Amino acid sequence: MESYNSFRVAQQQVKEAARLLHLDQPTIDLLQWPQREFSFTLHAKLDSGKTRIYHAYRIQYNYARGPAKGGIRFHPDETIDTIRALASWMTWKTAVVDLPLGGGKGGVCCDPKTLSERELETLSREYIRATAEFIGVDKDVPAPDVYTNPQTMAWMMDEYETIMHRHHPGVLTDKPQQIGGTEGRRDATARGGVITVREACLLHGLDPTRAYAIQGFGNAGQRAALLHQELLGGGRLIAVSDSRGAIYNAEGFDPKELVTHKLRTGSVLNFPGSTIIPRESLLELDVEVLYPAALENSITQQNADAIKARIVCELSNGPTTPEADLVLYKKGIHVIPDILASAGGVTVSYFEMVQDNYSYFWEEELVHARLDKKLAKAYHTVQEAIKEKQVHPRLAAMVVAVARVAQACKLRGWV
Ligand code: GLU
Repeated sequence: MESYNSFRVAQQQVKEAARLLHLDQPTIDLLQWPQREFSFTLHAKLDSGKTRIYHAYRIQYNYARGPAKGGIRFHPDETIDTIRALASWMTWKTAVVDLPLGGGKGGVCCDPKTLSERELETLSREYIRATAEFIGVDKDVPAPDVYTNPQTMAWMMDEYETIMHRHHPGVLTDKPQQIGGTEGRRDATARGGVITVREACLLHGLDPTRAYAIQGFGNAGQRAALLHQELLGGGRLIAVSDSRGAIYNAEGFDPKELVTHKLRTGSVLNFPGSTIIPRESLLELDVEVLYPAALENSITQQNADAIKARIVCELSNGPTTPEADLVLYKKGIHVIPDILASAGGVTVSYFEMVQDNYSYFWEEELVHARLDKKLAKAYHTVQEAIKEKQVHPRLAAMVVAVARVAQACKLRGWV
């Protein structure tokens, strides 16, 4: 993953937005670096009785607009720089949807596929023992990310409350609903993305009931498969991929059955009626909407020119490299950039924090309606910035977000 340094890309994106905003040098220097970063060496006892050492991080990129906010991933390829990049993107993500939050990210370098349930619990609790004094409802609020989920959050919240000797459900979001989670959080990232696709189709006269394809079939990819049809009135899901391979069917898959198959077998492969295709060719299919929902740097200079989708809705963080951005822009493909398209998750995380604070919970319809309003508004704000600055969508979204964070830093007298 790290042959391409994501953090250098993130810094470059900040620099370009700052130049368009004519920000002064101290502000640019501040926004190009995390405000606080922590690295930890954790020890966890495995089922075999042996102890293993794991490297872990938590980065609070910027907290001028509110507590740092962002997920924790468990992945073998994490480095301080991947987490810095992801923490930077969280800062712009919360700002582009105008949440009163900053940005942060955490990670544990481990291969969760080789760990038992008990080992994952141990590692989750160890992570909180290391970070407890640095996180909190008014400091930094983690959530799930790649290979972490509501169960991980439940263990982590329990460990935090055990250390603090009191209830603090808002210290983490995307918890199970029985212990302080909100309605509507599990499908929020995908729902937010599909809402932006709806707005894009209305604005640009595109047809969401044609074909769509999804690269990556984790939580966001699976939910997008279902919600695309549910919210946009149809559409044929003709291809999906996961870490094991890609499958295709010109007639379209039944998203519900495909999700059931994936959950049962652990992969999309061998789904009845599917043909295996090379993973790269999924990106080249003639579809109305392509949803990248895997890891960083999947759309590059090498494959961007072959993309035929009308809309690329980025549900994963950092799927497109800067060179590829320019190629897609020249080809007239409407990219809905990650910091906007994937902001539904953190938006509903924010709703969860609010509900935990006053210990009173909203109905699902209210969560959906408030999410819809936030995402649709952010989509149109970014469209206006595209028109005004005459730049590609990611840069326009960055301009909106960086301007808001820069203003908060200035008001506080930091720069
Ligand atoms: N991990 C998600 C993201 O990258 C959600 C973060 C959150 O809810 O804090 O947007």
